[in-house]
Amino acid sequence: MNILVLNCGSSSLKFQIIETDLEIIEKNADVQKAKGLVERIGGQSLVSFQATGRPAMKAAVALRDHRAALDYVIRWIISSESQVPGIHSLADIHAVGHRVVHGAEKFTKSVVIDETVIRGIEDCIELAPLHNPANLKGISAAKDVMGPGVPQVAVFDTGFHSTMPETSYLYAIPYQLYRRHKIRRYGFHGTSHRYVAYRYRQLTGKDVESTNIITLHLGNGCSACAIKGGSSLNTSMGLTPLEGLVMGTRGGDLDPSVIEFLSHKEAMSLNEIDALLNKQSGLLGLSGLTNDMRDLLAEESEHQDRRAKLAVDIFCLRVKKYIGAYLAEMGGADAIVFTGGIGENSAEVRRRICAGLEWLGIDIDVAANDKLYGGKEGEMGKANSRVKLFVIPTNEELLIARDTVRSVRNAPRRW
Ligand code: AMP
Repeated sequence: MNILVLNCGSSSLKFQIIETDLEIIEKNADVQKAKGLVERIGGQSLVSFQATGRPAMKAAVALRDHRAALDYVIRWIISSESQVPGIHSLADIHAVGHRVVHGAEKFTKSVVIDETVIRGIEDCIELAPLHNPANLKGISAAKDVMGPGVPQVAVFDTGFHSTMPETSYLYAIPYQLYRRHKIRRYGFHGTSHRYVAYRYRQLTGKDVESTNIITLHLGNGCSACAIKGGSSLNTSMGLTPLEGLVMGTRGGDLDPSVIEFLSHKEAMSLNEIDALLNKQSGLLGLSGLTNDMRDLLAEESEHQDRRAKLAVDIFCLRVKKYIGAYLAEMGGADAIVFTGGIGENSAEVRRRICAGLEWLGIDIDVAANDKLYGGKEGEMGKANSRVKLFVIPTNEELLIARDTVRSVRNAPRRW
């Protein structure tokens, strides 16, 4: 089946076309046929499309909404100009898989989308006011453009973490607030943590039950996950993606009293504080320069910028803290896996995170570490490191495509 994988943001649409099916999954022979991105939907949009192995097509076009953007994408995919193999008409796209950010307690697994599912995703909007509405726009656009006959599947960022026990997901606030409003940790980046755990098993030959690892998704958003017996035991993001690690523009863990204090001292509204914590904090807030790790590392080494160094140091220290916490909670782990733009590419950040953890059995091989960047997958622990260290580039789209096939074919989800 040719699966269109869609990841819709408030003004963006990312897509991939992946050919897969149940027997293809067994053989691990899925084929990525095309990918692309539409940015700045609602104005003069920038598009960048690429059939695998061909030069990218870039253009600026006025696309007023997600429907217009998807219509443009589909017309390109089926055109002869795109050269996407085996796709010449709408009928050659067999299903659509959507990344949906928040599924709350309603959705613990990927599901075929119908009216009830749409209402359920709408009910989760209050928990993800920035993300779920954009995901719903993508679903509605796909129904309009592809027609109601093409099955659509929702794959939730929160789904993988639905196995967390109460001891991980409850906040220590009055219990009735959980009962009444479902205030709890949900966790995000679930598809990424799940994918790298799956790849780890492929690389090591471990089975699901003996997968005891810490996965670190370090990108513009960052989260850590303690995976025990193949399932998410705990994760650093919470009710929303704001909790946990230091991120590009999110501050992560914080004394909640800061909010009240800020509202007095700076006369800020709750909305303004929310925006400050989500959009002006983290690496950007600490450095006063940028949320981009690459630029911070360059500022630090080329100009000895004190605040750039401070931001990177605090970023690495927070990750270290979570590694320690999860090792304690899990009773030790067999491996730590790095992924995401920073985790996959920055040997320097990985080195700083692992530095001084030898006593925990985490012993990085600096030369091996330096070789892992730009999409390379591999190990970077010393031969005698008790905890193995891996870089595994994430591939959420592949899991979304596979879950789409399994859901459409009514096959059980395999890990
Ligand atoms: P993502 O959200 O996964 O795309 O990751 C984005 C983050 O990865 C940004 O902070 C980038 O600066 C960072 N990144 C990408 N390449 C590198 C690199 N070579 N070194 C350090 N950080 C990088």
